[in-house]
Amino acid sequence: MKVASVLVPLPVPEAFDYAVPDDLELARGDQVAVPLGPRLLRGLISETRETTGSNRRLKAVEAKLDDPALPPGAMDFVEWAARWTLSPPGEMAAMALKGLRAPEPKPTVKLVRDPAVEPARATAARTAVLEAATRPLTAADLARAAGVSGGVIKGLVDEGVLTRVEVSAATDFPSPDPAHAPSDLNADQAAAAQALGAAVAAGGFQPFLLDGVTGSGKTEAYLEAAARALSHDPAAQVLILLPEIALTQALIQRVAARFGAAPAEWHSGVSGPRRRQVWQGVVSGRVRIVVGARSALFLPFPNLRLIVVDEEHDGSFKQEDGLVYHGRDLAVARGMIEGATVVLASATPSLETLANARAGRYGWLRLKARHGAAVLPTLELLDLRAAPPERDRWLSPRLVAEMAETWARGEQTLLFLNRRGYAPVVLCRACGHRLTAPDTDSWLVEHRYTGRLVCHLTGFSMPKPARCPECGAADSLTPVGPGVERVEEEVRSLFPDARTAVFSSDTVPDAASARALIERMRDGEIDVLVATQAAAKGHNFPRLTLVGVVDADLGLRGGDLRAAERTFQLLMQATGRAGRADRPGRALLQTWTPEHPVLQTLAAGDRDAFVDAELVEREAAGLPPYGRLAALILSGEKADAVDRAAGLLAGSIPNAERLEVYGPADAPLALVRGRRRKRLLVRADRDVDLQGFLRAWLARVKLPSSVRLTVDVDPYSFL
Ligand code: ADP
Repeated sequence: MKVASVLVPLPVPEAFDYAVPDDLELARGDQVAVPLGPRLLRGLISETRETTGSNRRLKAVEAKLDDPALPPGAMDFVEWAARWTLSPPGEMAAMALKGLRAPEPKPTVKLVRDPAVEPARATAARTAVLEAATRPLTAADLARAAGVSGGVIKGLVDEGVLTRVEVSAATDFPSPDPAHAPSDLNADQAAAAQALGAAVAAGGFQPFLLDGVTGSGKTEAYLEAAARALSHDPAAQVLILLPEIALTQALIQRVAARFGAAPAEWHSGVSGPRRRQVWQGVVSGRVRIVVGARSALFLPFPNLRLIVVDEEHDGSFKQEDGLVYHGRDLAVARGMIEGATVVLASATPSLETLANARAGRYGWLRLKARHGAAVLPTLELLDLRAAPPERDRWLSPRLVAEMAETWARGEQTLLFLNRRGYAPVVLCRACGHRLTAPDTDSWLVEHRYTGRLVCHLTGFSMPKPARCPECGAADSLTPVGPGVERVEEEVRSLFPDARTAVFSSDTVPDAASARALIERMRDGEIDVLVATQAAAKGHNFPRLTLVGVVDADLGLRGGDLRAAERTFQLLMQATGRAGRADRPGRALLQTWTPEHPVLQTLAAGDRDAFVDAELVEREAAGLPPYGRLAALILSGEKADAVDRAAGLLAGSIPNAERLEVYGPADAPLALVRGRRRKRLLVRADRDVDLQGFLRAWLARVKLPSSVRLTVDVDPYSFL
């Protein structure tokens, strides 16, 4: 009898077995319908095998679906990713089929002339319509082309002179032309493109770090590598991953300019029907270049030759809701499975990637200077102890003076503060109470634009109360500390005539508004932009010459594993925005602790010194990239159930060497959305089979259904 293991979209650790009816030919990757209880589910065949004399009464596969099979590489990747992250393989498979769950695009209705029918009467407007109707057009386009009202069109349709035809939504993906508009690369860029091109042509898995300051032409270099991939193999496919949707438009335009054809776009902002088309285009090989967010890794490429992860250091590649995975790490895995070239590009590479490059596991391509005459901005620490801002102000006299000069020259300032809203804490002057979210351990953040207090963790919000909820005092609630809105208020009061704007996820909630604000900044319609990290990456603003970092100490206070690394990267990215070819830039960092080693290495522009120091500390502690971590987070509505589950886990830790388990302890955020949280942390030496240990451990414990366990392999958040 023939049996198929089928991945179904459920939180179960393994595939389910089904009998294969004699008349069905099934292979790995095929999509099938299988019964589960009273339902039929979409499943993916993981494997088929012959069994002899099984007496189990297996249910049978109901049908093979017409949808395309997942190519072998995509199948291997899905199962690898599930094993690596300890996630249910069926849920990983569902990620890979996500595009298909969207509705079919609706056909467009267009109008064509029926030559057999003459209009009952001829007017100038009608004649204009018939002259314009040389090809199928929508009613609106036809009215516009002929310069007539919709009524004229409708009259002709009613008479049968124009007839309706349904045209299926555009599914053709224009072919990129590698020779369309190549750039003249400088020597460093050409050497990098050459190395990448050779790797692509040779085939096989080859990972690279493409390491160069902002503006050095990393994008130029990897687009050239994409061109080589496309011209070397007429079926080659290329995937370029970006950390933020806000960055995709600029890259799509550059790809279109370079190849004469726009790439396919894939992220949560793309409509369902369009995603379905892209999915189909990718699996059929018609889509050659995809620009997308981390989930694009799960697309069914049959012939992926090159994967680029741009801004590879960016924490946004880590997905923490639902399936927990790191897009950069999975990109390397997909490259390994597909035998593809992988390019990790950054001006501030992650320590993980740098360690791999230093050890020779990754090729290391360096672009040393900015392209052309552009130079990096000069960087200076402003010691706030020597010259502090006024009371309840956040900009020091020196920074204000530099802003005034910059504005007078017609140039732009970016004030960087990685804090949304008006004030991070609201305090009662009468009793000292700090307002917290009702169901979560976090301060409520005041937002003046919306007049609400917001929990940034869960999105909970409420109007600002008139009285202190603790002591009842009236008018006693005071904002403490600055957010971007408060800094903007200060800028407005200092420079009432300057054009200011705020760039944060509150003011640019979607890709379209981000694009609009970026364009206004690029076109010089903004004098001072106050921005969170949303604006710190990747954008080119030619008139931006001054970057002021409002609180350079902010990230250093967090104190988790990557606090120093993140701060270094963020500040380097933020300050790297200033100055272009003909206008040198300056970056001023306000700090109360100018002697801090992270700020010292930044000011000296000495990335290597920072990396050396940080790596020494990580190595001594056996932390990533020299060791590995995994977090187990237990949560539930009842504290005692969570405690018991934590005790159960702690009591069943398998013996293991060169591995330690810490906890259970209350999570720093011990209450989120009304759920109690406890954490355990596992540290292991690099060569320990961490996943194997976790699997063995979890297999020993049966947790109650009231407690949820989240496994986070290689955690980035320690909350
Ligand atoms: P990065 O990706 O390293 O930040 P980009 O590739 O975006 O750098 O290049 C920065 C700017 O310099 C862009 O406007 C780009 O068009 C320009 N540039 C870089 N290299 C070249 C080149 N070889 N020829 C022309 N323009 C270039």
